[in-house]
Amino acid sequence: MNEFYIGILYIVPTPIGNLSDITYRALEILKDVHMIAVENIRHTNILLQHFNIKNHLILMNKDNEKKQSDNLIEELKKGKKIALVCNAGTPIINDPGNILIKKCHISNIKVIPLPGPCAAITALSASGIINNRFCYEGFLPSKKKIRCDLLSSLKEETRTIIFYETKYRILESIKDIIEQIDENRHIVIAREITKKWESIYGAQASLILQWLKADKYRYKGEMVIIIDGFKKLKKDNLSKKILDTFLTLRKFLSLKTSVLITSQIHNINKNALYEYAIKKKSDKIL
Ligand code: SAM
Repeated sequence: MNEFYIGILYIVPTPIGNLSDITYRALEILKDVHMIAVENIRHTNILLQHFNIKNHLILMNKDNEKKQSDNLIEELKKGKKIALVCNAGTPIINDPGNILIKKCHISNIKVIPLPGPCAAITALSASGIINNRFCYEGFLPSKKKIRCDLLSSLKEETRTIIFYETKYRILESIKDIIEQIDENRHIVIAREITKKWESIYGAQASLILQWLKADKYRYKGEMVIIIDGFKKLKKDNLSKKILDTFLTLRKFLSLKTSVLITSQIHNINKNALYEYAIKKKSDKIL
């Protein structure tokens, strides 16, 4: 029979900017536990001081998690209650803690997660992009080749895709999204959520790039990229409205330009329209 322990590990999300986003329950637990495992002592101290909480902090970051998690498991086995926090948002989501949680499960130590702030989910909720099927991909890889390979593998991903990104790479990443996915794919950049300069901006990838380039303050701070999923538009699904736009433009413009403008106006994948146009051309209708 496995042994059960009375120690508990609480996973406690903390605000991603606005300190008022902490929950009552998170505050109670941060007050009541025997110790708090933190990613950065100074960072968590600012939060605790703001709420007048004093507690014992133990540093556990990606560099010492393997060893420190063993020490924390020993404390949990003795019956201690420990809260796990990261610098901002939900621990584990691109933050340390997973090794500790795995060890808790192996050792039959109870893990209690609290709901709370998470940049990915908060950004998704405001994106206006269909979000009941999504995949979270964490940070886009920093190496161009690996980033491009990943993006290319996601070209036909039908779920909404969420990435974390930094101000240092955002322009390069959007360029790669244009190249590897589609210049017309709808993207939302959710930046500095819950903070003073919060902005949520959505447009087709090529327009997002122009928009970002126009003002460097548009890509300062922390950000989430949300990419609309791939939509296979069948010829039969080209609505009358789309075809009317296309046929009107085609009277004055080249086939390529008409397809491009129509797909931008109606936010559709240009390939289906191309297929339609090529077919009509071979029928000598266009
Ligand atoms: N665990 C955190 C969470 O639950 O969201 C994520 C930590 S990860 C190390 C940090 C990244 O999250 C940032 O680089 C940015 O992509 C995103 N992020 C965090 N806070 C944000 C905010 N206020 N606005 C937009 N993105 C944010």
